[in-house]
Amino acid sequence: MDEYLNRLKSGALKLYALEQELPPDEAVKVRRTFIERETRTSLESVGSYTIPIIDAVKKNCENMIGTVQVPIGVAGPLTVNGSYAKGQYYIPLATTEGALVASVNRGCNAITQSGGAEVRVLHDGMTRAPVFSAVSIIEAADAALWVESHFNDLKNKAEETTRHGVLNGAMTAVVGTNLFVRLEFDTKDAMGMNMVTIASQNIADLIVQNTGVRLVSLSGNFCTDKKPAAINMILGRGRSVTAGVFLGSTLVKDVMKTDIDSFIEVNTRKNLIGSARAGSLGMNAHAANIIAALFIACGQDPAHTVEGSLTITTADKQEDGVYVAVTIPALPVGTVGGGTGLATQKECLQLLGVAGGGDPPGSNAKTFAEIVAAAVLAGEISLIGAQSAQHLARAHRELGRGEGRVKI
Ligand code: NAP
Repeated sequence: MDEYLNRLKSGALKLYALEQELPPDEAVKVRRTFIERETRTSLESVGSYTIPIIDAVKKNCENMIGTVQVPIGVAGPLTVNGSYAKGQYYIPLATTEGALVASVNRGCNAITQSGGAEVRVLHDGMTRAPVFSAVSIIEAADAALWVESHFNDLKNKAEETTRHGVLNGAMTAVVGTNLFVRLEFDTKDAMGMNMVTIASQNIADLIVQNTGVRLVSLSGNFCTDKKPAAINMILGRGRSVTAGVFLGSTLVKDVMKTDIDSFIEVNTRKNLIGSARAGSLGMNAHAANIIAALFIACGQDPAHTVEGSLTITTADKQEDGVYVAVTIPALPVGTVGGGTGLATQKECLQLLGVAGGGDPPGSNAKTFAEIVAAAVLAGEISLIGAQSAQHLARAHRELGRGEGRVKI
């Protein structure tokens, strides 16, 4: 240990190069000890982990020093009647927000008592949009025409790089001398960002060779990755999913402690009008809360909570009840790749029955997307119900602050 610490201190050895000389656990321990000494901080808890990190240091995290542990609670059982997800599920939620799991649990109870959430995947397409530079608007427009008339060439070139990825679309946008090409792929069970980025390089090379435009960046933000964007709201990104359930007025009264008219009024005035007045792209109560907690538990890229936050929640008055629905236009999820192989995250996917590649490929990711949508619906129902019953502050005082326990 001392030899490595001395070499790190002198600069003879770089922090990132430790794995070249040591097995992963030892490299992580030396790096952590070095940082502890440099910063005069104890990282004892960060260094206490159980997951095998051999893959993590290669694929998931550079300069690793340990792990952060996030509590996981379960909500459910949640009955889901999707095209892919069928049955009852316990939803793993990794969070530090007291009251969140209890709230989603109450929504699960309302949905399950009502026969389950109906769910459908509406669209499936992960995107990457390179930006090219042209010398004139004519060259940019001609290049766009070339792209639009050579889709099969782009498709063949892209699919040389992947066994599972399928190019389904290439949408162009010209802005002055800039050409954006939004490439859309079916990525099967992968969330697919790495997959489509690699495939997009092949396509970009082909476009450059045939049109003369210059590739500026493989990602031109017309994708749009990890930023709130109307294009994702309109066209979708990743899986586009919708979930709905009819709640009878008796159930709304007994479980949600409110009534149908108050429930719908909160949804209209808060989720729709309030969001519109605020210029919010998302029109929901807290979809990102459920998506973030599920994503952290299940090894998804948590930054994609941004896309998920574009959810729209609707509530329609029907005879003796209300039909509540969430529509999530952009939900980037996968059950292979990224963080899904890490031991704790994989166990959470396993408890949902969706770990790894599906049979047929793509079915596990779509099942997972449907479960996420049903869980978001549960979260929306519970929070709208709490707000219409004026219970929000009480729940946070009792659960978030630990000032008491309420039955969940
Ligand atoms: P990945 O771990 O890079 O690759 C997953 C690979 O699994 C696929 O490429 C595929 O190989 C293979 N695979 C095996 N069985 C499969 C199945 N049933 N369905 C689909 N693929 C299957 O994962 P990724 O989803 O492409 O990328 C996720 C990672 O990208 C995350 O870590 C995320 O944080 C990161 N990310 C990257 C960018 C970027 O710009 N590069 C942006 C945002 C996030 P084949 O391709 O040969 O079929």
